[in-house]
Amino acid sequence: MGKDNESIHEFDVNLICEYFLGLKRQGPGSPEVTVKALSFIEGLSKDSNIVDIGCGTGGQTMVIAQNAPGRIIGVDLFSTFVEKLNENAKALGLQDRVEGIIGSMDNLPFNDEEFDVIWCEGAIYNIGFERGLMEWRRFLKKGGYIAVTEASWFTEERPEEIEKFWQDAYPGIDTIANKVAQMQKTGYVPVAVFTLPESCWIDNFYVPQIKLQEEFLKRNEGNDAAARFVEYQRYEAELYHKYKEYYGYAFYIGRKI
Ligand code: SAM
Repeated sequence: MGKDNESIHEFDVNLICEYFLGLKRQGPGSPEVTVKALSFIEGLSKDSNIVDIGCGTGGQTMVIAQNAPGRIIGVDLFSTFVEKLNENAKALGLQDRVEGIIGSMDNLPFNDEEFDVIWCEGAIYNIGFERGLMEWRRFLKKGGYIAVTEASWFTEERPEEIEKFWQDAYPGIDTIANKVAQMQKTGYVPVAVFTLPESCWIDNFYVPQIKLQEEFLKRNEGNDAAARFVEYQRYEAELYHKYKEYYGYAFYIGRKI
């Protein structure tokens, strides 16, 4: 919840999209972290098929394409993000191997055992970690990998303010140990787990938003919802600085059995 008890779920999605379109990444992450997660995935070749679910504008999709062989499909609910991904792929000369499509993670247009890798950075919360792992499993070949980042508690106990914020934003947040158990339970061998460094949140996510917020507010002058959305984002950043020892993102990599 924001300072005035406003919830993230109350904002218009078009406003949220307009805001995040201006960022390289729509969630915490970094090229280094994507490459590190890729290092746990074995056996990829130019015939491999990878899907990046909730790809946004494709920041991490391009990093995957530049560091792994095979064909990559990015899927996102929002057409403006997908268009940007396809423009970015073209600008980098990756359009033959990377394609963005519009689709929803709870109704994916894929066949059973179509993919060698399912990737998802900062987006599985939209369906829920355990549900996503369970429902997407059928799209993976036997022995295929899933690699997702997910908001996770680093400690067993947390101050009330941050506990309350996350209970509203994403009640599915849980400890790393419980997330690993969910991965095991849904039919994957946990291959690796690591936490994302603070720079993924601060330098790559919150700092770029400072300039963006000024531009966004100027563009949306007089729009009360836009002003309140910026206030919410600033509150979220403030909370991260205050409570970052208690939570963050972890990368979970598993292999389908
Ligand atoms: N993976 C990108 C990154 O790390 O920069 C984007 C992460 S952003 C926090 C979450 C993404 O999930 C957004 O691009 C959003 O449009 C997408 N999304 C939300 N609901 C979705 C759904 N039902 N199906 C597919 N994508 C969805």
